Amino acid sequence: MASLQKALEQVNRMPRLAKAVQDVDRIIDLLTQAKAEVLRASDPHTSGLIMTKLQNPTKLAFEQVNTDLKEVSGAHKKLGRAIDKNFPLQPLPDDHDAMAYHPDLINRAIAMHLLREGQFTVASKFIEEADDISPNLQLSVDHDMSMDEDDDDAEDSASTAATSTGGTDVHDLSPLQSQELQSKFSEMYSILQELRNRNLVPAIDWARANSVELETRGSNLEFELSKLQYVWLFKGPAVNGLPDDENNGRFGALKYAHRHFGQFRARHAREMDRLAGSMAFASNIAASPYASDFMIDGAFSDVAASFTREFCSLLGLSAESPLYIAATAGALALPQLVKFMTKTRTRGTEWTTANELAFETPLPARMMYHSIFVCPVSKAQTTEANPPMMIPCGHVLSKESLHNLCRGTRFKCPYCPSEGHVRDAKEIIF
Ligand SMILES: [Zn+2]
Repeated sequence: MASLQKALEQVNRMPRLAKAVQDVDRIIDLLTQAKAEVLRASDPHTSGLIMTKLQNPTKLAFEQVNTDLKEVSGAHKKLGRAIDKNFPLQPLPDDHDAMAYHPDLINRAIAMHLLREGQFTVASKFIEEADDISPNLQLSVDHDMSMDEDDDDAEDSASTAATSTGGTDVHDLSPLQSQELQSKFSEMYSILQELRNRNLVPAIDWARANSVELETRGSNLEFELSKLQYVWLFKGPAVNGLPDDENNGRFGALKYAHRHFGQFRARHAREMDRLAGSMAFASNIAASPYASDFMIDGAFSDVAASFTREFCSLLGLSAESPLYIAATAGALALPQLVKFMTKTRTRGTEWTTANELAFETPLPARMMYHSIFVCPVSKAQTTEANPPMMIPCGHVLSKESLHNLCRGTRFKCPYCPSEGHVRDAKEIIF
């Protein structure tokens, strides 16, 4: 690995092709200059002389270009060899290609990924071409969760939200459908672009238009955005670059709070009091107890992340691209798989459960989703209604199993000799 690092450093240190380009430019200069001189020359003798004089410098310059190129390609070759040596080409140890039977699903994942990454042109070309190969390509989006502004729809969506958790509707990936997704995502990107330029207004407008849905989900997005707008105005024109009028600065922030903060009182009273209290320290906020509320460095990227999450979730999508997550998790798991397969092969045993991994994959916490728990007594997967319960000895079973074990309010652990009381059992939340 050290040799690879060295080779990579060498390539990075290389002036790349800049030197060769400079030399070529010099040759062009030489030639243009000679051409001008030839044109100016009155007799063929002088022109001949100019041409002869040109020969040596041109030859030298060409040799120089070759030397420059040799240096660069030498470094690249060295790096290539180091990569080959450190990462020998290894065929995957498993002949079972779980994805070979699901081209539609894979194409759909790719199309969705492109759409949500904002690669609209690539996405529509992909959908068009994938449709030729697999006409059943479907994109899934929960239509009922779409962000319509009228209230009737909002109520509808709240009720579908509760019933559609088992799986979103799958609609044909018609051009119309991808168009709809595309327009949603392009709206998302334009709002994110404004957030990057530190303009919160479009994001706040969006959150306000969807406040019913956001509220139902327990989202704080509208308040977080409005709070940052307050802080942003508070900083004044010197920092925010907005017009220096009564809508900006401390006065503008107060005015903004008066107009928009009333609705947040029920849920965010404490934070609002903090924002109001900060006014007393306005002249020296950095040394006040409110300093942390007024740091804006990471605040814009934080609200941008929350906005993306909420926007996608109202579309019935996760905040991060499933394809990206799956590919990254797969790459992380691969070394384990290779190791496992090599070991089982030398032992002569076979891996029979083709659809699940026979070993734990160490993934970072942010890649953990939907932890499941299977009750060791009933062998049933726990649910919200039947959650896993930890009993005082540390063993865990599902709530239903626990109740079935009870004699009165007491029970005996099925796995160890200890006994306990139902009220001492604690629900576990993964
Ligand atoms: Zn026990």
